[in-house]
Amino acid sequence: VTQRFSTAAAIEDPIAPPVQVNYTQLLIDGKFVDSASGKTFPTLDPRTGEVIAHVQEGDAEDVNRAVRAARKAFDEGPWPKMTAYERSRILLRFADLLDKHNDELAALETWDNGKPYEQAANIEIPMCSRLIRYYAGWADKIHGLIVPADGPHHVQVLHEPIGVAGQIIPWNFPLLMFAWKVGPALATGNTIVLKSAEQTPLTALYAAKLLHEAGLPDGVVNVVSGYGPTAGATLASHMDVDKLAFTGSTETGMIVQELAARSNLKPVTLELGGKSPFIIMDDADVDQAVELAHFALFFNQGQCCCAGSRTFVHESVYDEFVEKAKARALKRVVGDPFKKGVEQGPQIDDEQFNKVLRYIRSGVDSGATLVTGGERAGSKGFYIQPTIFSDVKDNMAIAQDEIFGPVQSILKFKDLNEVIQRANASKYGLAAGVFTNNIDTANTLMRALRVGTVWINCFDIFDAAIPFGGYKMSGVGREKGIDCLKNYLQVKAVVSPLKNAAWL
Ligand code: NAD
Repeated sequence: VTQRFSTAAAIEDPIAPPVQVNYTQLLIDGKFVDSASGKTFPTLDPRTGEVIAHVQEGDAEDVNRAVRAARKAFDEGPWPKMTAYERSRILLRFADLLDKHNDELAALETWDNGKPYEQAANIEIPMCSRLIRYYAGWADKIHGLIVPADGPHHVQVLHEPIGVAGQIIPWNFPLLMFAWKVGPALATGNTIVLKSAEQTPLTALYAAKLLHEAGLPDGVVNVVSGYGPTAGATLASHMDVDKLAFTGSTETGMIVQELAARSNLKPVTLELGGKSPFIIMDDADVDQAVELAHFALFFNQGQCCCAGSRTFVHESVYDEFVEKAKARALKRVVGDPFKKGVEQGPQIDDEQFNKVLRYIRSGVDSGATLVTGGERAGSKGFYIQPTIFSDVKDNMAIAQDEIFGPVQSILKFKDLNEVIQRANASKYGLAAGVFTNNIDTANTLMRALRVGTVWINCFDIFDAAIPFGGYKMSGVGREKGIDCLKNYLQVKAVVSPLKNAAWL
């Protein structure tokens, strides 16, 4: 199947190269293959709702096949036994290939996901190669320890790869989530079966092909496109999968953790939803605060797990903030994500589109003030106007649930203790933003907020070395940084008697 897409045909002044869909099959044991059932599913262009391509639909039988390949590659293949230096070099070659194909990957991502091409090409795909290089650098710096034992024993602690990793990723940052998952798992010598999100299967297949071009042995990374309750659930409950890493909604996170526990107790890391507070203090420069809070919420069509979706504003600057936030939202450029200067494309699909519109209705019904937006934008595709509610109360659904759309909820507060208590009164604890010129206030908030990331006078800064993950129901474990490596390592203690120990 080859589908071609050229932005030149779609819009004037194209900024993306023409791109085509070359890979629609499952990637198992180094080969592109059809699903066992022969079934396919369509992946859609969120700008129009039209079919981009029909992709092979993996389900239980295909996951079983992929796990067999990953198991064999782990137990018998060269990958875990290869020198760490050689693994690192393959990852570095992969990073170079990501850079080389940056613009095509970005165009494919925009086509499949609807995100602005400039965002994909200038921020996200470069972040993928950056992260792969970071973990390539770790590969040959992971080693065990010799520990002093209480007695005449020589004790070694070995850090070994954990085995076959099952990885399930969402649709909001398809290739970036692929990189976050495979980077640390490969650097530590594991093999992988990855299930992409059914809304966005295309870039994972493309990137997996590049991994093989970089020299990855067959069976080390297997990619199964397909649905959650079939392919995803089979992976989570598979007896031959040694570790599961999942990113997505909290509800599904609970399901996969249970599946993992009830099968073989495989350890699970979860990166789940959020309802992150963004706190604007009375000493803040309001114009800067408006811009940052706008970015914190509307980036990626509001489809970020860490979106600053509760904008808490001090009462002394509240009215000015709401007026200026409205002006900023009205200026937001919504349109075809392939056009230059577009800030906001469509939501991912009609399900998310309808869910966001339902939350907007619930905001109105519960008595919040609709400051701007609230409707679909345009007449086709899944575009939604940048929307702002003021006078939002903590108990409203729009202040409690993850909307995952371009809907900013502004809440008023009086003092620091009050806002700490209210910001923490959430089942989530993924991230928070703080905007203040007072270092004492910043320090107090930084300690008091029960979240995995606090951004002070900035937001959405993601470096490969910065750990990311949630407190409370936002997740288990950390991704990125050093902290992620231990998710993929087993620890083995080796003890042997020691004669005449003079030193350790
Ligand atoms: P989801 O959690 O259902 O999907 C995420 C991944 O899990 C996908 O690959 C999906 O196929 C898979 N999955 C679904 N059901 C599964 C199951 N029973 N077993 C194994 N895997 C399964 O998310 P969604 O339905 O695409 O979106 C729903 C909501 O989730 C969104 O509105 C948003 O609030 C939230 N979300 C959060 C993130 C995040 O990064 N935190 C990402 C996507 C969606």
